[in-house]
Amino acid sequence: MSKIGKVTVLNIFACAMIIFTAVVVFWLLAKNNLFTDFIKDAENKSFDYRQKVLAGRKSNFLAKNNISVVTVDDVSFEYLWDKYGEWPIPRDVYAGLIDHIEQSHPKAIVFDLLFIKSLKSSDNADNKLINTVNKYDNIYMAMNFDNIPADARKPLDLPERIQVDVENHSKVNLTANMTFSNCRTILEGLLNGRAHVGIANVNRSTDGIIRTVSPFAFYKGSYYPYLSLIAGNNYLNNETTKTYTINQESELILADRKIPLTPNGEVILNWYGEAGRVFDMVPVYKLLLDIGSGQNNYDFKDKTVYIGTTATSLHDTKSVPVSKLYPGVEIHATFLNNLIDNNFIKKTSIITDVILCTILALITVFIVFASSSAIFATLSTIMILVGYTFITYYLMFISNLWAPLVLPAIIVIITFALSYIIKYIIKSRDFEYQYKLATVDGLTDLYNHRYFQESLKQQMETAKRYGTSVSLIIVDIDFFKKFNDTYGHQAGDAVLRQVAQVLKKNVRTSDIVCRYGGEEMSIILPNTNNTEARTNAERICKAVAEKPFKLNATDESHVTISLGVATFPQDGEIPKDLIETADKGLYRAKENGRNQVGAPE
Ligand code: GH3
Ligand code: MG
Ligand code: MG
Repeated sequence: MSKIGKVTVLNIFACAMIIFTAVVVFWLLAKNNLFTDFIKDAENKSFDYRQKVLAGRKSNFLAKNNISVVTVDDVSFEYLWDKYGEWPIPRDVYAGLIDHIEQSHPKAIVFDLLFIKSLKSSDNADNKLINTVNKYDNIYMAMNFDNIPADARKPLDLPERIQVDVENHSKVNLTANMTFSNCRTILEGLLNGRAHVGIANVNRSTDGIIRTVSPFAFYKGSYYPYLSLIAGNNYLNNETTKTYTINQESELILADRKIPLTPNGEVILNWYGEAGRVFDMVPVYKLLLDIGSGQNNYDFKDKTVYIGTTATSLHDTKSVPVSKLYPGVEIHATFLNNLIDNNFIKKTSIITDVILCTILALITVFIVFASSSAIFATLSTIMILVGYTFITYYLMFISNLWAPLVLPAIIVIITFALSYIIKYIIKSRDFEYQYKLATVDGLTDLYNHRYFQESLKQQMETAKRYGTSVSLIIVDIDFFKKFNDTYGHQAGDAVLRQVAQVLKKNVRTSDIVCRYGGEEMSIILPNTNNTEARTNAERICKAVAEKPFKLNATDESHVTISLGVATFPQDGEIPKDLIETADKGLYRAKENGRNQVGAPE
């Protein structure tokens, strides 16, 4: 195997190991619920931030013309408490309210108040409300499902008239988190009367924040529509729908609108602003004052009027992305608002997410490998993260798309780190290889001539500075020309390699063995005086002479060497002089019959 081949294989192996480790670590993390929950929660939080920043820029979406919220706010609650001395207030008050609002011909009146049967309710007042509601066909009443055990409350059958059918052509799972075993029924006269009845349940994410609502709830084998879905359907279609359709693209069809659903059948709401800022808010006491004085200060013509509580003392508030305290009635109004604007949030598909992550990872790898400066690569990667954050923000702003932010960011950071490690490994291996190529002789694996010259100079300078000595031995194989002629050049090369090994074995690790050129070798011995160097040279000479060298698979032969020794400082102050002295010694050794160390002058 060639050296280049060896280095590349090692690099590929190192890269493969790193990627393999990364995949295993990521897989283990992905299997861990804590990790996936962390990613989910962080992604949800990033959605909240986008929504919060966007909320300030959505003033054009404010639904002042379409939706009004008649609210039992803190002031109204005080007013009602003073007037009736109880909460809930007698139901006939709402009867008067309905008649009053209907005078200005609203599109619909939607109650986010549960008119449940209670011991405190007066039949007279309840009947007054029922009769009034049944006078109109645009009143929407809320009901709540729950999972109270059957022995605590008997789960009642609900009238078929408030159920709907769903034709689901998608993989959306409508019963995943919207199946209930019990419910709190409302006044029978309302349940079986003319009022449209919808479900007011909302969904909480794992962190307790409400970001979605489900258009359908499942109870005792039937689907029940969400309160604002039926109000919205009526708003768009001007009729009550019995059968809803979900297409193959997981969109709920409503008139010309296609509402994107999550795999669990939820609608992601687009939040337009903080509590009380988005909708035309009318405190209920103002209307009651109007009723009392026979005035008509509020015009609800063609508006959908939501009626619910916003008073903090009534605790009907939840956390949503844009507000810690957001009244339930405004959540329902937000659904209708999104529907009118055709503005629901849609999550990018898994395939899109994978493509996004891959592109980001590839860009990061490219930047790390293409840039020569670490600071540039780091800054560029930060720029990618910042840039991508802006892209996700504008995707939501322009097309209501919720593109993932957290996982891609984590992938970019991991890719950055991995690319850097891989780049470093490749670089260091390449450097090692280049260095070896420049300093080592290919045949003998000894240092080459250039390295020898530099080392000798360096060692002599060091010796000069510290007042120590440094010796040089020059080795030449005897009658090598003849050897080549007899056994062939291949055998010569083999012997050359083996002689080099003998030399290496017979010196200290601090000594530097080089191929001087041809069949001549040199040894630099730092911190070694002439006597020690000569002893060493003699030992080497003997070791070579005694060793049988392999010429090929079967044959062996002996060779001898001649050596010359010189020592700094006595034999020369500069490398040239030292080499000359050693050469002279070598010459004398040859003259004297070879296989020996040249005697001193
Ligand atoms: P001596 O040194 O004992 O005087 O005789 P010699 O025959 O060794 O003479 P010299 O040192 O001048 O000859 C060098 C020979 O070494 C020439 C060449 O054939 C051989 N030689 C030099 N480099 C290599 C090499 O890389 N491989 C092989 N096989 N032979 C080499
Ligand atoms: Mg020679
Ligand atoms: Mg020779």
